[in-house]
Amino acid sequence: MSTNQSLKPLTLQTNAGGNLQIGGCDMVELANKYNTPLYILDEYTIRSICNDYKTAFKAYPKVNMMYASKALCTQAVSAILADEGFGFDVVSAGEIYTVYKGGVDMSKVVFNGNNKSFEELNLAMQYGVGRISVDNFFELSLLNEVAKSHNKIADILLRITPGIECHTHEYIQTGHLDSKFGFDLTRIDEAVELILEQYRNLKLHGLHAHIGSQIFETTIYSDEIDILIKELARLDEKFGLKLDEINIGGGLGVKYTENDMPPSTYDIADKIITSLNKNIQKYGIEAPALFIEPGRSIISTAGVTLYTLGSSKQVPHGKKYHAVDGGMADNARPSMYQAEYSAQIANKPDAENSCEVTIAGRFCESGDILIKNIKLPEIEEGDILCVYNTGAYNYSMASNYNRVQKPAMILVNNGQDDLIIKRETLDDIISHDIIPQRLK
Ligand SMILES: *Cc1c(COP(=O)(O)O)cnc(C)c1O
Repeated sequence: MSTNQSLKPLTLQTNAGGNLQIGGCDMVELANKYNTPLYILDEYTIRSICNDYKTAFKAYPKVNMMYASKALCTQAVSAILADEGFGFDVVSAGEIYTVYKGGVDMSKVVFNGNNKSFEELNLAMQYGVGRISVDNFFELSLLNEVAKSHNKIADILLRITPGIECHTHEYIQTGHLDSKFGFDLTRIDEAVELILEQYRNLKLHGLHAHIGSQIFETTIYSDEIDILIKELARLDEKFGLKLDEINIGGGLGVKYTENDMPPSTYDIADKIITSLNKNIQKYGIEAPALFIEPGRSIISTAGVTLYTLGSSKQVPHGKKYHAVDGGMADNARPSMYQAEYSAQIANKPDAENSCEVTIAGRFCESGDILIKNIKLPEIEEGDILCVYNTGAYNYSMASNYNRVQKPAMILVNNGQDDLIIKRETLDDIISHDIIPQRLK
């Protein structure tokens, strides 16, 4: 069992007052203190999954754990992951700047993305980002120019498309042949020739792939290793090129509902290490350093979102809707991916689940439904809904749709609650507006 297989944060319990408690903090008290919607993050759960990964991969000596920060990128989260010894996968200037300001060692950062801009590559060179995973031919030439202008050598990986299909939502598959990400296997040699013969300011260290997200299969990881090691061996033979790094991306799934059965970190580590050792022997190559960059599985389980329940509507002979004070702007996943979530009422978690209801968001879209047909106790206005597994891809995809302020985020640990993201104010909402003089 590893932490990504838990539906709820590990410290969750019902306290003496009959309320849900996480990290030793009463969820109803936090909802009153900081207002709702409110993101909660349990530090113990984050550190626990970090330990699962580190323990699971101990059997392979050259392993480097990275955190895919796009799942949730804040300075406090960066500080926790850096303290756990993780490096970082970043995909934009904003993420580079956040981890930099969060005190991260920039040599342990990998910069990914299929259309990095000149300004972003420039920032990456300026801050000494450790590896840039180059996605395409245009970027090879652009990065070479940027590195030259800095009088530096850019340390790179090549992002490849391994041509593997995983069974996850179409929008979060990334490794199949018809993907917008990476070099096709048939174009790698061309890229390598350019790097060796023409692009003097690029140094190639290894290959990078990422096959998708919310993955429940384990064999797909061994398929991926098969392809990456075969390519390393082939490039060695053809070009005499000794590449000593492979980055296999992230993707391990989490448990959003009782029906989800993701494998553990130990299951995937076993497949990955077995396949690595088998392939290293088969091709007689030096064991490469392994980089693995999970995002969702690191941060999802640690997060919950608290909402206040408000209005309700009984459709004649149909559904009973209850609306919360948030929705698609703080959690886009249900409307974007038909994602499912589980929830409890924080002020009466142990009451009998006597009603089947649909939890609606507050935004002006019929598609803004958070949870369809969930069994909950009788709901009264003012009840606090606690939605589980919202740590990943919730705040990071949040918007100001309907000009709603983004919620605050609280880090809980041992009875302590720390504000790590302030709630936006009404002045924040208009802070970028400009009225031209002629309209005044
Ligand atoms: C998104 C992404 C990850 C993380 O994926 P998760 O499913 O959140 O673990 C890792 N590597 C790359 C290149 C990515 O794009």
